[in-house]
Amino acid sequence: MNAPTPITIARGDGIGPEIMDAVLRILDAAGANLAIEEIEIGESVFKSGVKSGMRQEAWDSIRRTKVFLKAPITTPQGGGYKSLNVSIRTALGLFANVRPCVSYYPYIQTNHPKMNVVIVRENEEDLYAGIEYRQTADVAESLKLISHAGSQRIIRYAFEYARRNNRKRVTAFVKDNIMKITDGLFHKTFLEIAKEYPTIEHDSYIVDIGAARLADTPERFDVIVTSNLYGDIISDIAAQITGSVGLGGSSNIGEHAAMFEAIHGSAPDIAGQNVANPSGLLLGAVMMLMHIGQWDVAERVHNAWLTTIEEGIHKHDIYREGVSKQRVGTKEFASAVIQHLNQRPQVLEPVDYSHHATATPFQMHHPVGPPEIGAKELIGVDVYIDWNKGKVADLVEQVQPLQTDDLSLEMITSRGVRVWPDGIDETFTVDHWRCRFRGKDGQATHASILKLLTQFEQAGFDFVKTEHLYTFDGEEAFSGAQG
Ligand code: NAD
Repeated sequence: MNAPTPITIARGDGIGPEIMDAVLRILDAAGANLAIEEIEIGESVFKSGVKSGMRQEAWDSIRRTKVFLKAPITTPQGGGYKSLNVSIRTALGLFANVRPCVSYYPYIQTNHPKMNVVIVRENEEDLYAGIEYRQTADVAESLKLISHAGSQRIIRYAFEYARRNNRKRVTAFVKDNIMKITDGLFHKTFLEIAKEYPTIEHDSYIVDIGAARLADTPERFDVIVTSNLYGDIISDIAAQITGSVGLGGSSNIGEHAAMFEAIHGSAPDIAGQNVANPSGLLLGAVMMLMHIGQWDVAERVHNAWLTTIEEGIHKHDIYREGVSKQRVGTKEFASAVIQHLNQRPQVLEPVDYSHHATATPFQMHHPVGPPEIGAKELIGVDVYIDWNKGKVADLVEQVQPLQTDDLSLEMITSRGVRVWPDGIDETFTVDHWRCRFRGKDGQATHASILKLLTQFEQAGFDFVKTEHLYTFDGEEAFSGAQG
């Protein structure tokens, strides 16, 4: 027998300990070959004064085993406590959140009996970088950061996931009709990576219509890959419409570690009563077993669980008269799953993970640096100012004289909408203005920008931010104005 795989577990808070007990009993009975290290995380640790909810020895354990099965925890309200999940994800670089959303009709009521979608959500970038500013009385801003390397990594992960799991298609959700540069980069990268996987179909949707189709006809989707915010929203929609959000597991995968958990929280309202459903954590554990290469155990556990559901042995949260046969507690449900080990469901589709034994391992290529996008040239600057001292014409009158020999004023916008030249009176404006200057001979320098800013300073303007305008191989790498 191979040496047991070291994993770290945390029993968490609320229902955490009882569902973890149930899951560990099932894994043990199924023959999972694990060397378990246990750590303490969550409410008690927060309350002992550790703001991250995790002590150093807990971090050490996860960094050592690189595999973390985590029961839900309770984040205390107020007091400046950080989200433990966010801390773990960012510290360990868990860039991919993977959430299978499956319906179990007719045993669990849903309008979408044939749904089996996996959402692969980028976990680190986008608006979740948390870079925000309040620059004027009126305007707050959040930076949406999309990198080629980050997009490459998540998109490759989605295709690799599809390849490993015999999935047929990967769909990207983007909004590049509006965010042409950021979402455009994600989309372009998607098309670039898709070429490396000719046997897997690929397509893309604008996220709004994509989300609507997902909610309406989820069976048309297989694997969906998307950036952080869209992924956050659509993974909740997808989990909800399976009818079994409480049964979902999820994984957070990085190059150096991975974390597996249930989607639901610590449910303090039912803690300690032997009524919590351990299925979410169990399905998280199934993903963990696949991650560590124990495919056969994962398959045995997953099929035993499907058989138990099919036999109508249900926890109170999914119990329905006429469909369910036996209402059981947490412990009894775990015992029922154990009794069904080595059985396969008859109505629900059994899982078959045997191909994992021979499939090529995951290819998590390191991105090799920024893409080739040609010569970068600085051609101008956007100077943002906080100004509320009159009408657009007054502003133009004050800004025009600030032009220098090198940089000339091209336009002024407010909230992205052009107000000069050719503005119209109806445009709504706020105290946050963008003044775009371009180099007179198509080029700008840092020195010319500093000179321009000095002009703004001397004229008494509060310039709140600047953004440089670049071209790459002659192509403008910044957005124009609306309107
Ligand atoms: P919750 O998911 O804990 O509970 C929502 C409802 O679902 C409750 O009625 C609960 O009884 C029920 N429920 C949840 N899991 C269940 C299960 N396994 N079996 C049966 N019923 C179940 O969400 P909440 O009440 O909003 O949050 C409670 C706490 O959990 C909060 O402190 C929150 O911060 C935390 N939380 C933690 C995680 C995590 O650790 N990953 C995720 C979400 C919420």
